[in-house]
Amino acid sequence: MQRHQGYELLERIGSLLRAELRKSGAEYGLQPAHLQALGFFAQANRYSNTPAALTEYLGVTKGTASQTLLVLENLGLVKKTEDICDRRVVRVELTRRGRSILAALAPPELWGATCAKLGKRDLDDLAGRLEQVLRVMQQVNGTRTFGVCRTCRHFLSEGASKFRCGLTREPLKAEESLKICREHEAAPAA
Ligand code: SF4
Repeated sequence: MQRHQGYELLERIGSLLRAELRKSGAEYGLQPAHLQALGFFAQANRYSNTPAALTEYLGVTKGTASQTLLVLENLGLVKKTEDICDRRVVRVELTRRGRSILAALAPPELWGATCAKLGKRDLDDLAGRLEQVLRVMQQVNGTRTFGVCRTCRHFLSEGASKFRCGLTREPLKAEESLKICREHEAAPAA
């Protein structure tokens, strides 16, 4: 593959998917960035469901992230609550309507139809390669990985369905181990 070929392919795929999201989201007054933010809060764990983490995840300014959140809040797709331990911290979670709209719109149908035509092996290879590209890019750029908890170097398995965060020392539920985290640090390759 030539040096810029991967970039051009990713750009083209990204444009097609964004165009689909723009089309389907318009019915609900949502832009692709709004759906991206909804997707983030649907996956974010308890250390990451904050406006500050959204800002870092999207790589936008604080003002842009606040505007995005305001739109989602006004449409009744997310709700904000004060953290029970620290009232200065705001937590964001999807409402039932937010979850159902996200499930209906993302990923777009075009992605589902494309996956149905590709074999499982191709899809697994693709996911592996893209993850590798993403991790290198984040390393070069010095940005947080926002990876899945189970793949973090601080993740501790202490028995069947018994997990703990080695960084905070707090226990983790099985479903939390599948969420993404602001504090994630990729485990070294075995
Ligand atoms: S183990 Fe890592 S990813 Fe999981 S909660 Fe702790 S810091 Fe976050």
